Amino acid sequence: MCWFDDAERWKVKMETNNVKRISGITTGTFNGVIHTFNVNDQSNKLGRNPQDIEKKLDEMKSKLELYGHKFDRSWVTRSDLTSEEEEIHHLCHHSEKIALAFGLLITPPNEKIILAKNLRICGECHVSTKILSQIYLREFIIRDANRFHHFKDGKCSYKDYF
Ligand code: ZN
Repeated sequence: MCWFDDAERWKVKMETNNVKRISGITTGTFNGVIHTFNVNDQSNKLGRNPQDIEKKLDEMKSKLELYGHKFDRSWVTRSDLTSEEEEIHHLCHHSEKIALAFGLLITPPNEKIILAKNLRICGECHVSTKILSQIYLREFIIRDANRFHHFKDGKCSYKDYF
């Protein structure tokens, strides 16, 4: 079993310790320019129409669902979302997924996408990113607050041992 199974305990611990929630931010360097992505980021990057990023996020979601992926809603930390649809929409707009969508849009097909996240990557994004590496035949490297994750061929170098 992987450490993500500890998610619930971890969240409870955070709340017990009264840890202030910090927003997730993912950064990536594309064409020599550093870009920062926040959750639900709709900003215009490199002159890219935000709708293009939204379309790519939709495509990623559809491909994940076609693959049979079930979004793990236990990773939703917001209490203001009232439906399953809203929760899934939110999970699909975590900063690392937006950064991946942007990277897929603007990098050539064989290029690795390298990102950094200020917090630990959530369990949902970890599983989704593994699958996306297989679907798009791309390598993704995400350094999070704890370690490097190297996603390739549907696996992550951490815990999937490759
Ligand atoms: Zn996430």
